[in-house]
Amino acid sequence: MNNQIPMVDLRAQYLRIKNDIDAAMARVVETTAFIKGPDCTAFEQEFAAFCEARDCVGVANGTDALIYALRAYGVGPGDEVVTVANTFIATGEAILLNGAIPVFVDVDDVTYTLDPTKLAAAITKKTKVIIPVHLYGHPCAMDAINKIACDHGLPVLEDSAQGHAATFNGKKAGSLGHAACFSFYPGKNLGAYGDAGAVVSNDPAFIAKVRQIANHGGGSNKYDNVVLGTNSRLDTLQAAVLRAKLKHLTQWTEERRERALLYARLLDGIPGLVLPKEGPGARSAWHLYTVRTPKRDGLIEELKKHGVATAVHYPRPIHLQPAMGPAGGKVGDLPVSEGLSREVVCLPLYPELPLTEVERIASLVRAFLAA
Ligand SMILES: *Cc1c(COP(=O)(O)O)cnc(C)c1O
Repeated sequence: MNNQIPMVDLRAQYLRIKNDIDAAMARVVETTAFIKGPDCTAFEQEFAAFCEARDCVGVANGTDALIYALRAYGVGPGDEVVTVANTFIATGEAILLNGAIPVFVDVDDVTYTLDPTKLAAAITKKTKVIIPVHLYGHPCAMDAINKIACDHGLPVLEDSAQGHAATFNGKKAGSLGHAACFSFYPGKNLGAYGDAGAVVSNDPAFIAKVRQIANHGGGSNKYDNVVLGTNSRLDTLQAAVLRAKLKHLTQWTEERRERALLYARLLDGIPGLVLPKEGPGARSAWHLYTVRTPKRDGLIEELKKHGVATAVHYPRPIHLQPAMGPAGGKVGDLPVSEGLSREVVCLPLYPELPLTEVERIASLVRAFLAA
């Protein structure tokens, strides 16, 4: 019987830092500081510092981070937001839920992120915001994207839900645009023990706006409700867990990198197999190790037989999701994104994954594809 290898092993991660996590959770429970407790403020400060940004507001999840960041820009009906279709549905939902229209740009076929050479053509008089997505932890070509955004006077909002700790030209994701949205869904590189998210920016006035919207449109008093808001606060138990984990994020990212480099070495030169590559200036956070092969479906079956889990991110680009309604597109609109959706597969990659398992998975992949 082979070892069962999951896509992520949150239990193994917990066991590495059990004492810290248990103490953090007990601290919140014992003080009953469940809402807006001291750990929330402390986490916001620590996470902003980690991202090399001035300010941060915790929210309930990454989708809300996108929704309320867009609302803070004043995005609404009649507006357009330029983004990619090679992403999780939340990126598109956040735009539509504000009444705006997503305009999808194809991705670069090396980094699988927003192709800056196609960006300018997608911008119109109605464009309000540009959302590049640091997919799989790979930072977008932010120099080129920022230049085009700047030429058009548009803010860039990073969807950094997969980008924690990635860097571009030495700068951290979270400080590469005007603002950035993060998810702390348990399986993300920095994951809570439930749902959580944040918006990070060098613009404290912008963060204050998001904070206000995410807490019932509040003014300085609890019952001053000055703008239409909602309840999308980061809860204190999650903040306490995130603080305990944030201390390890740099090391965990290095451990991901070590495994990604090992895969790259062991999988090199297999005909028909395309390995993930870092673009110029990019240092990936390796949220996912995603390979590309026309034999994807067979490879998934083969690995499953040997107890190795895989995942497909994503089997359908979001412009082809019925949920996008009339804002969606048709087959052929975004050939690179559509081609990827037929051929990509993510191999297990997490800090606790034994190197011997990387070796075993790599030889299974090689044996299957060379056959
Ligand atoms: C996970 C994810 C989100 C949404 O975050 P949640 O915390 O699950 O709401 C948004 N965008 C991308 C690219 C993601 O991977």
